[in-house]
Amino acid sequence: MVLGRVLLWAAEKKRVQKLVTEGKLSRPVVRRFIAGDTLEDAIAVIKDLNARGIGGILDLLGDGVEDPSGAEAAFDEYLTSIRRIEETKIDTTVSIKLTQLGLAFDKGACIDYVRRLAAEAQAIGTYVEIDMEQSEYVADTLDIYKHLKVDFDDLHIAMQVYLRRTPGDLEEMVDLAPKVRLVKGAYIEAEEIALQKKKEIDAQYRFLTAWLFEKGSDPAIATHDSHLIAHAGRCAVNSDKGKSSYEIQMLYGIRRDLQEQLASDGYRVRTYVPFGSAWYPYLMRRMAERPANLRFFLRSLVGK
Ligand SMILES: Cc1cc2nc3c(=O)[nH]c(=O)nc-3n(C[C@H](O)[C@H](O)[C@H](O)COP(=O)(O)OP(=O)(O)OC[C@H]3O[C@@H](n4cnc5c(N)ncnc54)[C@H](O)[C@@H]3O)c2cc1C
Repeated sequence: MVLGRVLLWAAEKKRVQKLVTEGKLSRPVVRRFIAGDTLEDAIAVIKDLNARGIGGILDLLGDGVEDPSGAEAAFDEYLTSIRRIEETKIDTTVSIKLTQLGLAFDKGACIDYVRRLAAEAQAIGTYVEIDMEQSEYVADTLDIYKHLKVDFDDLHIAMQVYLRRTPGDLEEMVDLAPKVRLVKGAYIEAEEIALQKKKEIDAQYRFLTAWLFEKGSDPAIATHDSHLIAHAGRCAVNSDKGKSSYEIQMLYGIRRDLQEQLASDGYRVRTYVPFGSAWYPYLMRRMAERPANLRFFLRSLVGK
């Protein structure tokens, strides 16, 4: 747990980043969790997933830009992704991070970018999913979601179970029947802001899963925890809904066996496929989730 917090801290430190990305980190560790540096690498991975009955969620890596030109560049890359989805006919959605679209310094421009991406995605029969980032961005991210959900019914949003505010935020959106990807939460947050204990987070996950089956629409259960996935199955039965009424989402490189099993059992499964050169903070968050990953990672750093 302490180690996890250190890694999440390291994820945000530029000097540690330089050390790792320019060091002897072997490609296989990065490759386990990241499709590759380019959009075409991610498309190849998604084609393979599609062949096994699993949908994709394209994720352009990067955790925030500092100026309008950075936001515009990210917008262009998202747009290119959507155009390539149409050309390649792959089954995938597009996940976006609002800090990549300038949320931190120009909310108006950010809304405009999301609107244009949601429209482009809708025009080719897919949709945009908004990732949830650090707690300082949650209020603005929710504002943008609520604002645009009226025009784009298929817009999805990630909600973090560990945040103490999340049950209230969901109640506030109840009239919108929000389309939510339910995640535990991946960032380091203070105790006043977020639950810290696994047991409490898991209990809250169960509670909010039931809430989504009752009051949300098309819930996405985004976890690798098989107990929580089984709980979602019970919620579906309790609310007279079948396997097609919800989605199970996991990350590329994690529980591939379970992803394939669920897909072959007839569940709707989507895998989040990150790509791009800015992989460092994402990789650190995955390391922090599991000590076994960390051992693998450290061994690769020292070249063993
Ligand atoms: C599709 C998807 C989208 C996401 N989007 C967001 C987002 O927008 N914002 C956000 O804050 N977080 C996001 N997350 C991350 C999420 O918040 C968690 O950090 C992450 O899913 C790990 O939690 P878990 O639910 O799998 O449960 P855990 O309790 O962490 O893990 C349960 C079990 O899953 C396996 N497992 C979990 N993580 C790993 C790992 N790294 N390596 C190997 N095995 C592992 C292990 O068997 C573990 O025992 C997303 C996750 C998914 C699946």
